[in-house]
Amino acid sequence: MDGASAKVVVVGGGYGGATAAKYIRMWSEGQIGVTLVEPSAEFVSCPLSNLVLGGSKTLADITVSYDGLSQRQGVKLIRDTATAIDVDKRRVKLAGGAELPYDRLILSPGVDYMWGEVPALVDAAARETVLHAWKAGPQTLALRRQLEAMPDGGVYAVSIPVAPYRCPPGPYERACQVAWYFKRAKPRSKVLILDGNGDVTSKGPLFKKAWAEAYKNIVEYRPNYVLTDVDVASRTAKFDVQDNVRADVLNVIPPQRASAIARSAGVVTANDRWCDVDFVTFESVKVRNVHVLGDAIQPATLMPKSGHMANQHAKVCAAAVVALLSGQAPNPAPVLNNACYSFITDRDVVHVCSVHQYDAEKKTVLPVQGAGGLSPAMSELEGRYAFGWAQNIWADMLG
Ligand SMILES: Cc1cc2nc3c(=O)[nH]c(=O)nc-3n(C[C@H](O)[C@H](O)[C@H](O)COP(=O)(O)OP(=O)(O)OC[C@H]3O[C@@H](n4cnc5c(N)ncnc54)[C@H](O)[C@@H]3O)c2cc1C
Repeated sequence: MDGASAKVVVVGGGYGGATAAKYIRMWSEGQIGVTLVEPSAEFVSCPLSNLVLGGSKTLADITVSYDGLSQRQGVKLIRDTATAIDVDKRRVKLAGGAELPYDRLILSPGVDYMWGEVPALVDAAARETVLHAWKAGPQTLALRRQLEAMPDGGVYAVSIPVAPYRCPPGPYERACQVAWYFKRAKPRSKVLILDGNGDVTSKGPLFKKAWAEAYKNIVEYRPNYVLTDVDVASRTAKFDVQDNVRADVLNVIPPQRASAIARSAGVVTANDRWCDVDFVTFESVKVRNVHVLGDAIQPATLMPKSGHMANQHAKVCAAAVVALLSGQAPNPAPVLNNACYSFITDRDVVHVCSVHQYDAEKKTVLPVQGAGGLSPAMSELEGRYAFGWAQNIWADMLG
């Protein structure tokens, strides 16, 4: 290849970015220089973070070092935040003052929250009381402490935004994990699911069965609860048409959009929220040489915002970037898959999986009919698969 002097900068060391950084190094046989910009010292996984809320796992269990990327793969790691992108000069500006030139830029910055949609939470201090815990880390631990401090007989309420949002089944898994904790430690307590959507958005029959059986009298599901604001002092949620709901622990998952750095690069093209990409390369449809992965993109039909899918985006993109920097054509017909496990108890799990194939005529990725499926019922065997999935994907992206 003649990509020997080529420079790729990756912004964001999560499921998409870390995978892309590693695979470009591997597939270019170390010839392409890759710099990864990420402010966190270690990778903390959102998948399995609901188990930290339930109390069966710790944050240390879902934290992985970035050392493998730098020491084994030769990725240059910069612990900093990208603050601006100059797409004409092809440079990334960092908070620390440095500027990184690139031939190809890969953005996998995840999501930001649209606080304007929940006006009381525009105030950062209010967000210390009404937590989202939708990025694993300090908020996960803070929400766990709120649950521990709640007296038996109290109410935990979780507000779910109207789709699309990061991890469709995640809020329902969270409700199960909190219910699992209450069942053992505070059996008179309740879990209230206040869903902005008209129905459960993923694995509906499986979750509903768990709430009716394993968590009978603990979990209550209420659809069509579109949050408009909260009263922080009284932990009251307000809705467009439904009555107010007061809770002892109020957990608001706000509406989301691509993280701010995507806006700076000018790649936010869908509904002022998400980034449209060419699914052959994951290059922005608007800005050349800038690729976008993971939760930040405007997805194709039935393509979930998941860590597994971000990992798949990254591999398609990495292969395309290595090809393009070597003067070759990218694979014209990429195939992606998704597997998503949800923990009902600390060990019983259900899954959904799907396969997605590029359609050259329609220029999009479409689900392959008859491929994939849903668990018939929760099981401990699937729990073992789910823990295996986590270890494998962490090794795949960071090892
Ligand atoms: C509770 C919960 C449970 C989930 N469970 C599952 C599951 O079981 N399976 C599954 O597949 N998915 C699951 N997900 C979804 C999964 O976490 C996301 O889809 C995935 O993290 C998306 O990857 P990403 O690379 O787009 O973003 P992320 O993994 O969030 O990575 C983004 C990275 O970019 C960095 N960043 C942002 N802005 C900048 C900047 N300006 N400069 C430098 N760095 C920046 C951030 O620090 C972060 O590390 C879950 C999510 C949640 C919240």
